[in-house]
Amino acid sequence: MSPKNKEEIVIRGTAASPGVVQGPAFVFLQKDLEVPFYQVGEGRGLAEIKRFANALAETRSQINAIKTEIADKLGDEEAQIFAAHLLVLEDKALIDETIQEQRNSGYNIEYCFHTVSKRYIDFFDQIKDDYLKERSADIKDVSRRVLHNLMGHAGFTLNHLQDKRVVVAENLTPSDTAIIDKENVLALLTDLGSRTSHAVIVARTIQVPAVVGLHDITQRVKNADYLLVDGYNGVVIIHPSEETLARYGKIQSAYESRQRVYEESLALPSQSADGQNLPLMANIEGRGDIPSVKRTGASGVGLFRTENLFLGKGTPPGEEEQFEVYREVAEALKPETVIIRTLDLGGDKSTFFKDGPSMEKEENPFMGLRAIRFCLEHKGMFKDQLRAVLRASAFGDVKLMYPMISGVDELLRANALLEEAKAELRERSEPFNESLSVGIMIELPSAAYTADLLADHCAFFSIGTNDLIQYMMAVDRVNDRVAHLYDPNHPAVIRAIKSVIEVGKNKGIPVSLCGEMAGDSLYTALLFGLGADALSATPGCLAEMKYLLRRTKMQEAVDLAEHVLQQKSSKEVHKLLKSFYGAQLGELIESETGNL
Ligand code: PEP
Ligand code: MG
Repeated sequence: MSPKNKEEIVIRGTAASPGVVQGPAFVFLQKDLEVPFYQVGEGRGLAEIKRFANALAETRSQINAIKTEIADKLGDEEAQIFAAHLLVLEDKALIDETIQEQRNSGYNIEYCFHTVSKRYIDFFDQIKDDYLKERSADIKDVSRRVLHNLMGHAGFTLNHLQDKRVVVAENLTPSDTAIIDKENVLALLTDLGSRTSHAVIVARTIQVPAVVGLHDITQRVKNADYLLVDGYNGVVIIHPSEETLARYGKIQSAYESRQRVYEESLALPSQSADGQNLPLMANIEGRGDIPSVKRTGASGVGLFRTENLFLGKGTPPGEEEQFEVYREVAEALKPETVIIRTLDLGGDKSTFFKDGPSMEKEENPFMGLRAIRFCLEHKGMFKDQLRAVLRASAFGDVKLMYPMISGVDELLRANALLEEAKAELRERSEPFNESLSVGIMIELPSAAYTADLLADHCAFFSIGTNDLIQYMMAVDRVNDRVAHLYDPNHPAVIRAIKSVIEVGKNKGIPVSLCGEMAGDSLYTALLFGLGADALSATPGCLAEMKYLLRRTKMQEAVDLAEHVLQQKSSKEVHKLLKSFYGAQLGELIESETGNL
């Protein structure tokens, strides 16, 4: 709580995942360290070397603890990377040269260690050899850890938080959030990012509040500062006063009671007030999400993002390992549908494979070798996944979906590899669903414009609004500087959605939506009225969506959609949707406004 002498500071960003929490900060250090540089003075050399020895010992015990934890959670193979880190700590050359440097120069030990380790890192970096590059990454990681220990800093790994903390970071990559200590993370706050960064999607999936695009929060918050986070309105308060905490306590309980009302509809059919069905499906990231899919009574999984199986793993999972996961999900949710999306690596989801394809750093990663493009370049890895999905299709209602399809040629190439994968399984007499349904995501303008052509080669469409909006409006979805330009209300976006849905109707294939727009209740009635066949969203969004759907008549939604399509600007669209949404919630909001 705010110490009496500290002034309350309010910072505004982009609301990215709902909820109000309070607690101490954990500042996640990612930027290059500023290593102090000073002469230690006569006779202080031994003390410096002792400090170095202590930091090495502390680092060793931290790495050992992480190694044990990773081995327990993910298996021995995943823990091997930390065994390599322990070896760096024992590297005689690195240690001896640091000590020698201190003796020769008389500088502080962190500076000497930094100088020596950097020399090694630069040397390995220059060599075009994957194994040695990996060695450079190991030294980099370990030396950061040693330097932090020497400098008495907070932490720089998210897989183990000492206690419940609000994580504050410049940016969070999907690999950071894949290993995050879910038990102890209270909220996520970042300098960069927007509502559709993948890290934010993870926050919503694990249901922790998040505020992003806070620009300089990492500069303004120190480790252990007490924070209040309002993920509904995108507000962070540093050193909140007693009064502020009390006020937010009321806001939180108002939201919670509203959520309880929404949740009452979870057990009821997913249909409009006049009985028209609109399946509300779940977006998931792995088998860990099975309980929330069941709890929310979702009509199956509309998007299973498979990247988490690959991120942060030295070796990409093979067919067998993936098959086990897909089968478990398919069996657990049977008879509901599970749509498994093939790998969407690239963009902000980049990773380093020790044994596997290398992912080069790209100038413009969202326009780069991402998703299906990456898979078509790495056919062996892609086919491992295709066979795994095919085999899982013998255990439940599994469907397959390709991301980032840009046109017919790409789709045909993916389908040809699928046929090869099928033939290989037949050869092995492995059972699978011969008529596995294959769909594509519509997330590129080129796909939206050629939807009629694509429909001839696939069984369903799922509109990925996160990327569709990014590519239509030329707004990098993770760049906070242009986040205000990322606009689902833009008439172009609404027209594109309408046109793809119409193509689906003409061609007789279903069209669903699975981007964040589909999970935002402001758009539930509109998308229903435009004729979407299903909506898919993170499980935490489904209660409110269903509550609203059940209060909407089909004709009202169609009228709303028509009215929206007549608007000329985003502002007008937004106003219309807001007023429809407000009227739908009616008394539910009115009873709270006193508190808000
Ligand atoms: C999308 O682009 O809308 C989508 C659902 O895919 P992702 O967010 O994983 O890119
Ligand atoms: Mg996408």
